[in-house]
Amino acid sequence: ELQVADVIQWMEKSNDSIQANKDYLSSLDRAIGDGDHGINMARGFQEVVSKLTTSDYQTVSDVLKDVSMTLLSKVGGASGPLFGTAFLKMSTTVKGMEKVDANQLGEAFQEALNGIKLRGKANKGDKTLVDVWEPVVEFFKSSDSIDANALAEVAKQAMESTKELEARRGRAAYLKERSIGHLDPGSVSSYYIFTALSEVLQ
Ligand code: ADP
Ligand code: MG
Ligand code: MG
Repeated sequence: ELQVADVIQWMEKSNDSIQANKDYLSSLDRAIGDGDHGINMARGFQEVVSKLTTSDYQTVSDVLKDVSMTLLSKVGGASGPLFGTAFLKMSTTVKGMEKVDANQLGEAFQEALNGIKLRGKANKGDKTLVDVWEPVVEFFKSSDSIDANALAEVAKQAMESTKELEARRGRAAYLKERSIGHLDPGSVSSYYIFTALSEVLQ
């Protein structure tokens, strides 16, 4: 179960990982993109934490809505609208709720994934962050109570699975088979976000 303070902690932990791995994320993006993914995410999540820690919230949905609006306006690139859409869909799915249980969180992630796929036109296997979000959604659907360690493991394996894939969406798709052998940057940042969630759920 997540309450307002837990969601804020989730975003703080996500931000900690993204700041610590900013250069790594950009180096992954230099290999198969334009090298800005770490900068984009670090800027966006720093703003998210600033916003959340200086505001008052009654509902989980209002927190998620501010996360969404901040990511939409501050991250930029391809990933900003995608993460922004994900958190907006989560917010509307749990509208008005002061806390969410594992089932509700699973439904929120399902809607987030639908939104990501609609906006980016990517499917699983295209070497995008969908390759992490979809297995996580499946994991939430497959169990009523969430084992935090198992969640982290699912996200890790999903992130690692992008290495062998050929990109079919985003900038990396221009490289065709030369994109093989590199991790997808957006999948790695998504992995940090789900690892942070698993820590809050411990
Ligand atoms: P940009 O490519 O505009 O510089 P970023 O570097 O911030 O944006 O983000 C790149 C990441 O965005 C990729 O690693 C991938 O995970 C994700 N991405 C790009 N295009 C799509 C898409 N069409 N659908 C889903 N995810 C995408
Ligand atoms: Mg980039
Ligand atoms: Mg860019």
